[in-house]
Amino acid sequence: MNHDRSHALFNRAKALIPGGVNSPVRAFKSVGGEPFFVQRADGAYLYDVDGNRYIDYVGSWGPMITGHNHPKVREAVERAIRDGLSYGAPCAAEVTMAETITRLVPSCEMVRMVNSGTEATLSAIRLARGATGRQRIVKFEGCYHGHGDSFLVKAGSGMLTLGVPTSPGVPAGLSELTATLSYNDFEGATQLFEDIGGEVAAVIIEPVVGNANCLPPREGYLQHLRDLCTRHGALLIFDEVMTGFRVALGGAQALYGVVPDLSTFGKIIGGGMPVGAYGGRRDLMEQIAPAGPIYQAGTLSGNPVAMAAGLAMLDLVSEPGFHDRLSATTVALCEGFVAAAREAGVALTTNAVGAMFGLFFTDSKVDTYAQAVACDTAAFNRFFHAMLERGVYLAPSAFEAGFVSSAHDDAIVDATLAAAREAFAVVVAG
Ligand code: PMP
Repeated sequence: MNHDRSHALFNRAKALIPGGVNSPVRAFKSVGGEPFFVQRADGAYLYDVDGNRYIDYVGSWGPMITGHNHPKVREAVERAIRDGLSYGAPCAAEVTMAETITRLVPSCEMVRMVNSGTEATLSAIRLARGATGRQRIVKFEGCYHGHGDSFLVKAGSGMLTLGVPTSPGVPAGLSELTATLSYNDFEGATQLFEDIGGEVAAVIIEPVVGNANCLPPREGYLQHLRDLCTRHGALLIFDEVMTGFRVALGGAQALYGVVPDLSTFGKIIGGGMPVGAYGGRRDLMEQIAPAGPIYQAGTLSGNPVAMAAGLAMLDLVSEPGFHDRLSATTVALCEGFVAAAREAGVALTTNAVGAMFGLFFTDSKVDTYAQAVACDTAAFNRFFHAMLERGVYLAPSAFEAGFVSSAHDDAIVDATLAAAREAFAVVVAG
């Protein structure tokens, strides 16, 4: 594969943009090499500026669950832009969006639109602190909730990938208010609440972790957290920025039947436009300005073009059977990966939840952060590059979930597995 144009662009980018990218994980830092620059995207494919084509399992890190450039989303955007790009005054699409979210996710009795997942989680935490009058929050090692100061403590995603799980620049006085737990550790959560339960404003969790590879909750774990929060007067926040509308139409809370007090969304909800949202119990959401005193605002929040894209996307994912088909694709893909790895003599375990999956270079089951980080990342890196050379783009980090879209049909899965058979042989060769 030729990458001359990408290489030239990356050199220009590095001179002016930190690390050459506008979001760290894109830079291929942990897998090595250089990122390709995208010219266009369509269906399950990305096309780079050198004319190479890749089957894409990143999907813009989650939003593109119907494949890239879906005609219904594109047409909705085209229609919306004829009426102007931003009003800074209310529009009908915002109301339709609020009606749609509250219908699809019943725990959200009210909702506020923002512009990213980061904004959604920041706002939810402020609301939790304001509503409870408490300051401490609890998060889980390896979970990523955007780059708000309170969350950059033992965080996943790019922070884990780059080996800086706690960021400089976060005041100690603030990070001290963030306690961390091990995901799927029942006893640790019980103990923490015994120790400081009365001071905890909220527990925030990725109900299925997608930022430390892909880790599903153990049976009863989310309910255990629900019970602890209820008993100790803390709020439970599900960060469904990744899982929302992906692992099931109603998100992880529908899949596992656990009701959080607040939820945060992003990615799919904007159909590829910069959108986030947070919502939850009415008595809590009514404390947000201007209904109540807890302040949160946004110049571009509820943007008409973004709402049009998001509504078109939510319409598509609401089609009957949409998530069942996606789950079947994800399972077929993961089973194929495991079979191909076994043929090549490579130890591989997979996790699949709805349209999310994780590949672990180990032969044991993985559902904790400690197990995820103990996997063979060098083997992953070799596999990543061998796949890329064969036209398959996986997330450029061993600590990110993979995403399947409805554009990934049987032929595309077969092509992926054909590439994987060769790529596992490369892993073995070292
Ligand atoms: N929460 C989760 C679970 C995420 O995966 C992400 C981003 N990957 C965020 C929050 C932050 O969203 P954004 O990048 O849109 O700010």
